[in-house]
Amino acid sequence: MTGPYVIRKSVNGEGNGLFATRDIRTGETVVEKRPLVVIDLNQGRFLPDGSLSLARIYDEWNRQLSDPKERKDYLKLSHHDNDAQLAQNRKDTLTSNPDAGKVIAIWNNNCLGTGSHDLYSKISCRINHSCQKNATWGGNGEGFTVRAIRNIKKDEEVLISYISLAQPRKMRSDQLRQGYGFDCDCPACGKEFDQLSDDRRKVMCSLNQKLPKVVEAAKLEKFDKVVRPEHVKLCEDMVGWLKQEPTMIDEMFVKQELLAHLYRIEKKHSTASSMMQQAYEGARLCRGDGDEHTERIKYALQGLESRLQS
Ligand SMILES: [Zn+2]
Repeated sequence: MTGPYVIRKSVNGEGNGLFATRDIRTGETVVEKRPLVVIDLNQGRFLPDGSLSLARIYDEWNRQLSDPKERKDYLKLSHHDNDAQLAQNRKDTLTSNPDAGKVIAIWNNNCLGTGSHDLYSKISCRINHSCQKNATWGGNGEGFTVRAIRNIKKDEEVLISYISLAQPRKMRSDQLRQGYGFDCDCPACGKEFDQLSDDRRKVMCSLNQKLPKVVEAAKLEKFDKVVRPEHVKLCEDMVGWLKQEPTMIDEMFVKQELLAHLYRIEKKHSTASSMMQQAYEGARLCRGDGDEHTERIKYALQGLESRLQS
């Protein structure tokens, strides 16, 4: 499926970007694609530290991307030469192909990660980053979608975020430089950046660090034993801060879902239900109906509502 976009040179002249070919409404799907290469993170070869083995990246690429033209296009994508050299020299690359290091460096620079899968597609690599994005993306092994989180004007560039935006400017800039090799000059990072917004992100970053992993993971079976009032307070604060940054709606619905579960465990069913409703609306906007995560929230919401009625 092709969407209302075209890939062309970015405004500042560096590399390509994805641009709207007409006005796009909030919640509309901009891109819907099957990825060309998928690595299922639940399976297979990992290094002792848990990271993906380089040989596996190369093998999957080699197996899944068989079209010579696709391969050629792939090898033109951006990457750091240093990284390619490092990967080539690593024992775990285990291949004689002189391009293996480059394949891996490009993968690391251009793939999108969904938590359970790493996905590579030519489209995904051409959507640029902004810390004040206007679109979110989501995906699984079947494919990925990009959706508008606000109205996007014709000819405006469609921008997603490569990293968590709940961190201050300096941290984001380090992460983008190390991980993707560029300096972000979006309105949240440039000279005229909004100090108040940056202060909010600083607070969110420290709240995120305090939200215990056990709660964050939302493995709800054992939740009841570990939830404490301070977790609820932390989560409420987080949702409150996120509300002030509309561009972070995808981070917000996840926290709203978590908070709704915490309220449920505290037996505040009505509050839980209205919080889950908000999470559901956010998930529909960011991920769409039928998405795994949206469906999970919908199911939880139905459970809470039927409880209220009984
Ligand atoms: Zn930025």
